[in-house]
Amino acid sequence: MPMMETEFLQAEVTDRKLRLQAAVAHAPHDENLKSLLREVDSALDRIAAGTFGLCEECHDPIEKDRLLSNPLIRYCIDHLNKAERDALQRDLDLATQLQNKLLPPANLCSCGWHTSYHYAPLGAVSGDYCDLIEHNGSLYFFLGDVSGKGIAASLLMTQIHALFRNLLTMGIPLRQVVAHVNRSICEKVLTGNYVTIVCGQATANGDVEIYNAGHLPVIVTNRDNVQLLESTGIPLGLFQEANPPAAKLQLESGDTLFLYTDGLSEARNHEDEYGVDRLTELMDKHRRLPPTELVSVCLNDLARFTGTTPRSDDLTLLALQRMGTA
Ligand SMILES: [Zn+2]
Repeated sequence: MPMMETEFLQAEVTDRKLRLQAAVAHAPHDENLKSLLREVDSALDRIAAGTFGLCEECHDPIEKDRLLSNPLIRYCIDHLNKAERDALQRDLDLATQLQNKLLPPANLCSCGWHTSYHYAPLGAVSGDYCDLIEHNGSLYFFLGDVSGKGIAASLLMTQIHALFRNLLTMGIPLRQVVAHVNRSICEKVLTGNYVTIVCGQATANGDVEIYNAGHLPVIVTNRDNVQLLESTGIPLGLFQEANPPAAKLQLESGDTLFLYTDGLSEARNHEDEYGVDRLTELMDKHRRLPPTELVSVCLNDLARFTGTTPRSDDLTLLALQRMGTA
Protein backbone atom coordinates (compact mmCIF):
# COMPACT_ATOMS: atom_id res chain seq x y z
CA MET A 1 0.00 0.00 0.00
CA PRO A 2 1.46 3.44 -0.97
CA MET A 3 2.85 5.64 1.80
CA MET A 4 0.12 8.29 1.57
CA GLU A 5 -2.68 5.80 1.97
CA THR A 6 -0.96 4.15 4.92
CA GLU A 7 -0.58 7.56 6.56
CA PHE A 8 -4.21 8.35 5.90
CA LEU A 9 -5.29 5.04 7.39
CA GLN A 10 -2.96 5.44 10.37
CA ALA A 11 -4.57 8.80 11.12
CA GLU A 12 -8.02 7.23 10.69
CA VAL A 13 -7.25 4.37 13.02
CA THR A 14 -5.60 6.61 15.61
CA ASP A 15 -8.66 8.85 15.58
CA ARG A 16 -10.90 5.83 16.11
CA LYS A 17 -8.70 4.71 18.99
CA LEU A 18 -9.15 8.06 20.77
CA ARG A 19 -12.91 7.93 20.28
CA LEU A 20 -13.08 4.35 21.53
CA GLN A 21 -10.96 5.17 24.59
CA ALA A 22 -13.30 8.03 25.43
CA ALA A 23 -16.32 5.73 25.02
CA VAL A 24 -14.73 2.96 27.11
CA ALA A 25 -14.04 5.50 29.89
CA HIS A 26 -17.80 6.08 30.12
CA ALA A 27 -18.77 2.43 29.74
CA PRO A 28 -15.92 0.38 31.20
CA HIS A 29 -17.91 -2.88 31.10
CA ASP A 30 -18.93 -2.74 27.45
CA GLU A 31 -17.23 -5.84 26.01
CA ASN A 32 -18.03 -4.85 22.43
CA LEU A 33 -16.19 -1.51 22.78
CA LYS A 34 -13.24 -3.21 24.46
CA SER A 35 -12.98 -5.77 21.70
CA LEU A 36 -13.06 -3.00 19.07
CA LEU A 37 -10.30 -1.21 20.95
CA ARG A 38 -8.18 -4.38 20.83
CA GLU A 39 -8.75 -4.57 17.06
CA VAL A 40 -7.74 -0.95 16.62
CA ASP A 41 -4.56 -1.53 18.66
CA SER A 42 -3.78 -4.56 16.58
CA ALA A 43 -4.17 -2.50 13.36
CA LEU A 44 -1.77 0.13 14.75
CA ASP A 45 0.69 -2.65 15.62
CA ARG A 46 0.50 -3.96 12.05
CA ILE A 47 1.12 -0.47 10.67
CA ALA A 48 4.18 -0.15 12.93
CA ALA A 49 5.42 -3.59 11.90
CA GLY A 50 4.88 -2.90 8.18
CA THR A 51 2.44 -5.81 7.76
CA PHE A 52 -0.68 -3.66 7.55
CA GLY A 53 -2.89 -4.40 4.55
CA LEU A 54 -1.54 -7.93 4.05
CA CYS A 55 -3.83 -10.92 4.44
CA GLU A 56 -2.88 -12.91 7.53
CA GLU A 57 -3.63 -16.16 5.74
CA CYS A 58 -1.97 -15.78 2.33
CA HIS A 59 0.12 -12.62 2.93
CA ASP A 60 -1.11 -11.09 -0.33
CA PRO A 61 -2.34 -7.47 -0.25
CA ILE A 62 -5.97 -7.09 0.84
CA GLU A 63 -8.32 -5.49 -1.73
CA LYS A 64 -7.69 -1.72 -1.44
CA ASP A 65 -11.32 -0.56 -1.57
CA ARG A 66 -12.24 -2.93 1.25
CA LEU A 67 -9.33 -1.73 3.35
CA LEU A 68 -10.15 1.93 2.81
CA SER A 69 -13.74 1.37 3.88
CA ASN A 70 -12.69 -0.70 6.90
CA PRO A 71 -9.03 -0.43 7.99
CA LEU A 72 -9.52 -3.10 10.66
CA ILE A 73 -9.91 -6.01 8.27
CA ARG A 74 -7.12 -8.60 8.28
CA TYR A 75 -8.03 -11.03 5.52
CA CYS A 76 -8.39 -10.85 1.76
CA ILE A 77 -11.78 -11.74 0.33
CA ASP A 78 -10.67 -15.32 -0.31
CA HIS A 79 -9.75 -15.82 3.34
CA LEU A 80 -12.63 -14.28 5.27
CA ASN A 81 -13.79 -16.25 8.28
CA LYS A 82 -17.35 -17.50 8.44
CA ALA A 83 -18.72 -14.51 10.36
CA GLU A 84 -17.15 -12.09 7.87
CA ARG A 85 -18.39 -14.08 4.89
CA ASP A 86 -21.87 -14.08 6.42
CA ALA A 87 -21.72 -10.30 6.92
CA LEU A 88 -20.67 -9.81 3.29
CA GLN A 89 -23.47 -12.12 2.18
CA ARG A 90 -25.99 -10.10 4.21
CA ASP A 91 -24.79 -6.91 2.48
CA LEU A 92 -25.19 -8.55 -0.90
CA ASP A 93 -28.64 -9.92 -0.01
CA LEU A 94 -29.70 -6.43 0.98
CA ALA A 95 -28.36 -5.03 -2.30
CA THR A 96 -30.35 -7.70 -4.16
CA GLN A 97 -33.52 -6.77 -2.29
CA LEU A 98 -33.00 -3.07 -2.95
CA GLN A 99 -32.47 -3.67 -6.65
CA ASN A 100 -35.55 -5.91 -6.84
CA LYS A 101 -37.61 -3.07 -5.37
CA LEU A 102 -36.65 -0.94 -8.36
CA LEU A 103 -38.26 -3.36 -10.81
CA PRO A 104 -41.62 -2.45 -12.37
CA PRO A 105 -44.74 -4.55 -11.64
CA ALA A 106 -44.80 -7.96 -13.32
CA ASN A 107 -47.16 -8.38 -16.30
CA LEU A 108 -48.16 -4.73 -16.22
CA CYS A 109 -51.08 -3.78 -18.46
CA SER A 110 -51.17 -0.05 -19.01
CA CYS A 111 -52.12 2.58 -21.56
CA GLY A 112 -53.29 -0.06 -24.05
CA TRP A 113 -50.23 -2.28 -23.73
CA HIS A 114 -49.57 -5.70 -22.19
CA THR A 115 -46.04 -6.18 -20.90
CA SER A 116 -43.93 -8.92 -19.44
CA TYR A 117 -40.29 -9.05 -18.45
CA HIS A 118 -37.66 -11.37 -17.05
CA TYR A 119 -34.81 -9.91 -15.00
CA ALA A 120 -32.03 -12.24 -13.91
CA PRO A 121 -28.78 -10.90 -12.46
CA LEU A 122 -25.77 -13.19 -12.83
CA GLY A 123 -24.62 -12.44 -9.29
CA ALA A 124 -26.24 -10.64 -6.38
CA VAL A 125 -26.95 -7.51 -8.42
CA SER A 126 -27.30 -6.68 -12.10
CA GLY A 127 -25.94 -3.98 -14.38
CA ASP A 128 -29.04 -4.43 -16.56
CA TYR A 129 -31.72 -1.78 -16.40
CA CYS A 130 -35.40 -2.47 -16.93
CA ASP A 131 -38.27 -0.15 -16.15
CA LEU A 132 -41.84 0.71 -17.14
CA ILE A 133 -43.36 4.05 -16.24
CA GLU A 134 -46.94 5.20 -16.79
CA HIS A 135 -47.12 8.93 -17.11
CA ASN A 136 -49.72 11.24 -18.62
CA GLY A 137 -51.47 8.51 -20.59
CA SER A 138 -48.29 7.07 -22.10
CA LEU A 139 -46.32 3.98 -21.20
CA TYR A 140 -42.55 4.58 -21.13
CA PHE A 141 -40.28 1.55 -21.41
CA PHE A 142 -36.57 1.20 -20.71
CA LEU A 143 -34.09 -1.59 -21.15
CA GLY A 144 -30.37 -1.03 -20.88
CA ASP A 145 -27.04 -2.57 -20.13
CA VAL A 146 -24.42 -0.72 -18.09
CA SER A 147 -20.80 -1.42 -19.04
CA GLY A 148 -18.96 -3.57 -16.53
CA LYS A 149 -20.47 -6.04 -14.14
CA GLY A 150 -21.50 -6.55 -10.56
CA ILE A 151 -21.78 -3.87 -7.90
CA ALA A 152 -20.12 -1.03 -9.82
CA ALA A 153 -22.46 -1.52 -12.79
CA SER A 154 -25.48 -1.84 -10.51
CA LEU A 155 -24.66 1.52 -8.88
CA LEU A 156 -24.81 3.34 -12.22
CA MET A 157 -27.94 1.37 -13.09
CA THR A 158 -29.75 2.56 -9.94
CA GLN A 159 -28.76 6.18 -10.62
CA ILE A 160 -30.00 6.01 -14.21
CA HIS A 161 -33.23 4.44 -12.99
CA ALA A 162 -33.83 7.33 -10.60
CA LEU A 163 -32.85 10.01 -13.11
CA PHE A 164 -35.18 8.75 -15.87
CA ARG A 165 -38.06 8.45 -13.41
CA ASN A 166 -37.54 11.88 -11.89
CA LEU A 167 -37.12 13.75 -15.17
CA LEU A 168 -40.02 12.03 -16.94
CA THR A 169 -42.48 12.57 -14.11
CA MET A 170 -41.48 16.24 -14.10
CA GLY A 171 -43.07 16.32 -17.55
CA ILE A 172 -39.85 16.65 -19.59
CA PRO A 173 -40.16 15.06 -23.07
CA LEU A 174 -38.34 11.74 -23.52
CA ARG A 175 -35.94 13.15 -26.15
CA GLN A 176 -34.68 15.77 -23.68
CA VAL A 177 -34.55 13.27 -20.85
CA VAL A 178 -32.30 10.98 -22.93
CA ALA A 179 -30.04 13.94 -23.75
CA HIS A 180 -29.86 14.91 -20.09
CA VAL A 181 -29.01 11.40 -18.91
CA ASN A 182 -26.31 11.20 -21.60
CA ARG A 183 -24.76 14.48 -20.42
CA SER A 184 -24.94 13.39 -16.80
CA ILE A 185 -23.01 10.20 -17.47
CA CYS A 186 -20.48 12.09 -19.67
CA GLU A 187 -19.91 14.70 -16.99
CA LYS A 188 -19.44 11.96 -14.42
CA VAL A 189 -22.33 13.33 -12.40
CA LEU A 190 -23.20 9.66 -12.32
CA THR A 191 -20.39 7.34 -11.38
CA GLY A 192 -19.51 4.76 -13.97
CA ASN A 193 -18.81 4.23 -17.55
CA TYR A 194 -21.43 4.10 -20.28
CA VAL A 195 -24.75 2.43 -20.99
CA THR A 196 -26.43 1.00 -24.06
CA ILE A 197 -30.15 1.54 -23.91
CA VAL A 198 -33.45 1.24 -25.71
CA CYS A 199 -36.21 3.46 -24.42
CA GLY A 200 -39.48 4.63 -25.80
CA GLN A 201 -42.91 6.07 -25.35
CA ALA A 202 -45.97 4.05 -26.35
CA THR A 203 -49.51 5.38 -26.52
CA ALA A 204 -52.89 3.65 -26.56
CA ASN A 205 -53.42 4.42 -30.26
CA GLY A 206 -50.30 2.41 -31.17
CA ASP A 207 -47.83 5.25 -31.71
CA VAL A 208 -44.34 4.39 -30.51
CA GLU A 209 -41.38 6.73 -30.34
CA ILE A 210 -38.23 4.78 -29.71
CA TYR A 211 -34.56 5.56 -29.05
CA ASN A 212 -31.84 2.96 -29.42
CA ALA A 213 -28.49 4.21 -28.12
CA GLY A 214 -25.93 1.60 -29.09
CA HIS A 215 -28.08 -1.27 -27.92
CA LEU A 216 -28.97 -4.52 -29.69
CA PRO A 217 -31.70 -4.37 -32.34
CA VAL A 218 -35.29 -4.33 -31.09
CA ILE A 219 -37.45 -7.03 -32.63
CA VAL A 220 -40.80 -5.79 -33.92
CA THR A 221 -43.39 -8.34 -34.98
CA ASN A 222 -46.70 -7.70 -36.68
CA ARG A 223 -49.37 -9.89 -38.27
CA ASP A 224 -47.26 -10.74 -41.31
CA ASN A 225 -43.61 -10.46 -40.48
CA VAL A 226 -40.79 -9.59 -38.16
CA GLN A 227 -38.33 -6.72 -38.47
CA LEU A 228 -35.24 -5.52 -36.65
CA LEU A 229 -34.98 -1.98 -35.40
CA GLU A 230 -31.26 -1.32 -35.29
CA SER A 231 -29.46 1.12 -33.03
CA THR A 232 -29.53 4.69 -34.32
CA GLY A 233 -26.96 6.08 -31.92
CA ILE A 234 -23.98 5.37 -29.73
CA PRO A 235 -24.17 4.37 -26.07
CA LEU A 236 -25.04 7.08 -23.53
CA GLY A 237 -22.07 8.46 -21.62
CA LEU A 238 -19.51 8.63 -24.43
CA PHE A 239 -20.10 11.97 -26.19
CA GLN A 240 -22.06 14.89 -24.80
CA GLU A 241 -23.48 15.98 -28.14
CA ALA A 242 -24.28 12.55 -29.52
CA ASN A 243 -27.96 11.96 -28.91
CA PRO A 244 -29.81 9.16 -30.67
CA PRO A 245 -32.56 10.21 -33.10
CA ALA A 246 -36.07 8.90 -32.53
CA ALA A 247 -37.61 6.17 -34.65
CA LYS A 248 -41.40 6.33 -35.02
CA LEU A 249 -43.55 3.25 -35.36
CA GLN A 250 -47.26 2.56 -35.64
CA LEU A 251 -48.24 -0.75 -34.07
CA GLU A 252 -51.57 -2.56 -34.50
CA SER A 253 -53.35 -4.72 -31.95
CA GLY A 254 -51.31 -7.87 -31.32
CA ASP A 255 -48.04 -6.34 -32.63
CA THR A 256 -45.10 -6.76 -30.32
CA LEU A 257 -41.81 -5.10 -29.37
CA PHE A 258 -39.20 -7.45 -27.96
CA LEU A 259 -36.17 -6.03 -26.10
CA TYR A 260 -33.29 -7.97 -24.55
CA THR A 261 -29.74 -7.61 -23.28
CA ASP A 262 -26.63 -9.40 -24.55
CA GLY A 263 -27.10 -11.94 -21.76
CA LEU A 264 -29.50 -13.45 -24.32
CA SER A 265 -27.94 -12.75 -27.71
CA GLU A 266 -24.37 -13.52 -26.57
CA ALA A 267 -25.24 -16.54 -24.45
CA ARG A 268 -23.06 -19.48 -25.44
CA ASN A 269 -23.04 -23.22 -25.52
CA HIS A 270 -19.65 -24.90 -25.90
CA GLU A 271 -19.38 -24.09 -29.60
CA ASP A 272 -21.74 -21.27 -30.54
CA GLU A 273 -23.38 -17.98 -29.64
CA TYR A 274 -27.19 -17.75 -29.34
CA GLY A 275 -27.33 -14.77 -31.68
CA VAL A 276 -29.92 -12.28 -32.91
CA ASP A 277 -30.76 -14.46 -35.95
CA ARG A 278 -31.95 -17.37 -33.84
CA LEU A 279 -33.97 -14.97 -31.69
CA THR A 280 -35.53 -13.32 -34.74
CA GLU A 281 -36.61 -16.68 -36.12
CA LEU A 282 -38.08 -17.64 -32.78
CA MET A 283 -40.02 -14.37 -32.54
CA ASP A 284 -41.27 -14.78 -36.10
CA LYS A 285 -42.56 -18.27 -35.32
CA HIS A 286 -44.35 -17.16 -32.15
CA ARG A 287 -45.25 -13.65 -33.13
CA ARG A 288 -48.89 -13.75 -32.04
CA LEU A 289 -48.22 -15.07 -28.53
CA PRO A 290 -48.97 -12.77 -25.60
CA PRO A 291 -45.93 -11.20 -23.86
CA THR A 292 -45.81 -13.55 -20.85
CA GLU A 293 -45.74 -16.61 -23.09
CA LEU A 294 -43.29 -14.99 -25.49
CA VAL A 295 -40.85 -14.45 -22.61
CA SER A 296 -41.30 -18.09 -21.49
CA VAL A 297 -40.80 -19.42 -25.02
CA CYS A 298 -37.61 -17.41 -25.27
CA LEU A 299 -36.27 -18.61 -21.90
CA ASN A 300 -37.03 -22.22 -22.81
CA ASP A 301 -35.28 -21.87 -26.15
CA LEU A 302 -32.27 -20.29 -24.45
CA ALA A 303 -32.11 -23.15 -21.94
CA ARG A 304 -32.30 -25.68 -24.79
CA PHE A 305 -29.48 -23.86 -26.57
CA THR A 306 -27.06 -23.38 -23.68
CA GLY A 307 -27.62 -26.82 -22.14
CA THR A 308 -25.20 -27.25 -19.27
CA THR A 309 -22.97 -24.28 -20.17
CA PRO A 310 -23.13 -21.86 -17.23
CA ARG A 311 -24.47 -18.35 -17.75
CA SER A 312 -21.84 -15.59 -17.90
CA ASP A 313 -23.84 -12.35 -17.96
CA ASP A 314 -26.89 -10.60 -16.56
CA LEU A 315 -30.02 -11.39 -18.56
CA THR A 316 -33.07 -9.22 -19.16
CA LEU A 317 -36.00 -9.65 -21.56
CA LEU A 318 -38.91 -7.27 -22.05
CA ALA A 319 -41.92 -7.79 -24.31
CA LEU A 320 -44.61 -5.17 -25.00
CA GLN A 321 -47.71 -5.93 -27.01
CA ARG A 322 -50.43 -3.59 -28.12
CA MET A 323 -53.79 -4.75 -26.74
CA GLY A 324 -56.88 -5.45 -28.79
CA THR A 325 -59.13 -2.46 -29.40
CA ALA A 326 -62.34 -4.43 -28.95
ZN1 LIG B 1 -5.71 -14.12 1.68
